Amino acid sequence: MSDKTKDNTVKDYDGTKTPLQTPDERVGYAVIGLGDLTEEELYPAFGRSARSRLVALVSGDKEKATIQARQLGLKDSDVYDYDHFEELEKRDDVQAVFIVLPNSLHREYTERAAKIGKHVLCEKPLSVSVADAEAMVEACKAANVLLMTAYRIQYTPHHQAAREILDNGKLGRAKLMTAVDVQTEPNEGQWRLKAKLAGGGSLLDVGLYCLNTARFLTGEEPYEVFAYTHSTEGDPRFTEVEESVQFTLRFPSGLISSNFCSYGTSKHRSLRVLAEKGNLLLDPAFDYTNLRLIRDTETEVTETLVKEVDQFALEIDHFSECVQTGQQPYTPGEEGVQDQRIMEAIYRSAKEGRPVQLERFEGRDVFRGKAPTQPGRERS
Ligand code: NAD
Repeated sequence: MSDKTKDNTVKDYDGTKTPLQTPDERVGYAVIGLGDLTEEELYPAFGRSARSRLVALVSGDKEKATIQARQLGLKDSDVYDYDHFEELEKRDDVQAVFIVLPNSLHREYTERAAKIGKHVLCEKPLSVSVADAEAMVEACKAANVLLMTAYRIQYTPHHQAAREILDNGKLGRAKLMTAVDVQTEPNEGQWRLKAKLAGGGSLLDVGLYCLNTARFLTGEEPYEVFAYTHSTEGDPRFTEVEESVQFTLRFPSGLISSNFCSYGTSKHRSLRVLAEKGNLLLDPAFDYTNLRLIRDTETEVTETLVKEVDQFALEIDHFSECVQTGQQPYTPGEEGVQDQRIMEAIYRSAKEGRPVQLERFEGRDVFRGKAPTQPGRERS
């Protein structure tokens, strides 16, 4: 790592130092589901973490898992299949599991992990329905283990900087937030296109970034949604789930958030805020790297330079800190449940062709725990 220092600390992008914990001090994780996200992002992120370590893999493909385990320096006995997941109970070095499976399997593995006393970091979306997501929160509460929704964006310094700019009032009151998260989902066989596994189409996958980021940047909860869905007629990819969703959220401060997500459009991920005295642009807004944050007023355009960090390492280390201290995660299960409620309202609005009212919540960050203290480390 480029930013390791001689005194065994990791230098954060703002100059503060985080002590590197020894392997025994770190929170040990079993990762469940060894697909693209795990291979491409999570393995490197564990390598860049300061208080987390990967100690076991859970997969349906023993051969693949064993090869990956050996590459990671783990033993063959650190590989478990889904049927033998409960054997992790005996592993004192596994304090937490990271669920990286198709969406509809999140509930089952959260409940199974809670039963054997393991803390749960669960990929977004938390689940495929409000009922499932609430059951996950309840299961973890009953077992006295922590549950965190893996919303990496809320741990990303560019997004934290954007929230600070909006909070400090220099741009005045924000009036409109527009967010777009679109891509092409080309593979007809992908679980993301199967309703039973994905729970929905582009909304639950990429549209959730627009929704969750609007809630994060404002700190508020929307009280009304209005939405349209669209799927290209005859496109075999969209027989079970929707291709695109346009949804509008109304927030108590008066801000309107207008969002578009799609599986049928060339990749684009941006977010713009129009405020009384200037604008804010994140473009790209939701990528893993190369984010840019630009402010413009009538007299100047300024780019806020924020050093690149590993978003996943930040997120995982935050959860490890929670496991070590017992504090509630910044993005607990309840934060995921609230998005699930809003997504169900979005689908209802599109189906019924009218705005749908949501429960009103007063105050800011009503579903969030204490904000993370570690701003993070540079990518090497
Ligand atoms: P993927 O298809 O690449 O991997 C899924 C894994 O689950 C595979 O290893 C597959 O073998 C396994 N699996 C187990 N049972 C399965 C079943 N019945 N059908 C299909 N696969 C099954 O998917 P991914 O992109 O790694 O996504 C996994 C989870 O991570 C999803 O919930 C997704 O929303 C989330 N995700 C989050 C981010 C992020 O930025 N936070 C990015 C990508 C994916």
